[in-house]
Amino acid sequence: MNEAIVPFNDLSRTPPELADEIADAVARVVASGWYVMGPEHDAFETELAAFVGSEHAVALGNGTDALELALAAVGVTAGDRVMTVANAGGYTSVAARLLGAEPVYADISADTLQLSVETVTAALDALPTAPRALVVTHLYGAMAPVAAVAEVARARGIVVIEDVAQALGARAGGRAAGTFADIATTSFYPTKNLGALGDGGAVFTSDAELAATVRSLRQYGWTSKYRIGLARGRNSRLDELQAAILRVKLPHLDAMNERRREVHARYEAASSDVLRVVNHGSESFIGHLAVAVAADRDTVRAAFDAAGVRTDVHYPIPDHRQDWPGPVSIELPATDAASTSVLSLPIFPELTDAEVDRVVAVMDAIAGRA
Ligand SMILES: *Cc1c(COP(=O)(O)O)cnc(C)c1O
Repeated sequence: MNEAIVPFNDLSRTPPELADEIADAVARVVASGWYVMGPEHDAFETELAAFVGSEHAVALGNGTDALELALAAVGVTAGDRVMTVANAGGYTSVAARLLGAEPVYADISADTLQLSVETVTAALDALPTAPRALVVTHLYGAMAPVAAVAEVARARGIVVIEDVAQALGARAGGRAAGTFADIATTSFYPTKNLGALGDGGAVFTSDAELAATVRSLRQYGWTSKYRIGLARGRNSRLDELQAAILRVKLPHLDAMNERRREVHARYEAASSDVLRVVNHGSESFIGHLAVAVAADRDTVRAAFDAAGVRTDVHYPIPDHRQDWPGPVSIELPATDAASTSVLSLPIFPELTDAEVDRVVAVMDAIAGRA
């Protein structure tokens, strides 16, 4: 009863060797006198592109800017529609609306909580004209069926964008998330699997022209120094300190993802009808979040709380039900059902086996196995 809390996440548990390496990287940048878009930044872009296997990585200020600039780069402008799902935290909707575009939604599969060929096809068929772009979000660390969905979209002339903010390092058939679309976006928000000590983001593309456009848009729309050549430019740069820190962490990403898979495998084994774990261990799942579905979420959550295990909900309010710009009239039954039944369990690389045991013990009790 007096046991310590099992936290939902704890970013202060950085292993000491890694913390030392980060401190060295910070000292290196401080001494260099170069704080924005210097050598660490350029080296990080090269290393990140190589990790994903795309021709270009363009580092940015955060993941929402990455979405906005990627949408702008593929030609989304005011009045265009952008299709996505409504259960992924709202980032794509915010980015689309910043461009004056209208987000439209495909429902999700009740099984995977991701879009599918069926849900995207139904949503496209319900529109009078095709959207300009489709953003495929790889949710919770699991890859959505991006190759199949991209085929459907491209046949209708729709540009495909992947959001890999929750799935960096996930692969399908050995090919990394972020290489299936025309352009992909990511975030280095501290809780992501590759997290900075602050904000950061990037886009990936193997299209040199798209990469050049995003490089221009991230710096005022400059086509050369002080010459503004493109509309919708802004300042969205990754600073040198964050780049140096991310360079330290990137080589550890696959191992950290593997530890997350290990934790998740314990939860998968304890999955039940009362609390169904959504995802399954594979190369295409990196355990960003450990999401389970419970018809009676309040009761289940209270059981975790009573045992000192912290949980969270990703996400409680679907995009079409947000206060701004107000309710969007569309039927998304699986999305609505997910918003009232999903529950996220603790998962991060530094979670101890003893803590995982405590989460599993609550899962066993809930399933009547105790
Ligand atoms: C975190 C996240 C974003 C936004 O990234 P920020 O860096 O916080 O702006 C976008 N999409 C997904 C799927 C995310 O998880």
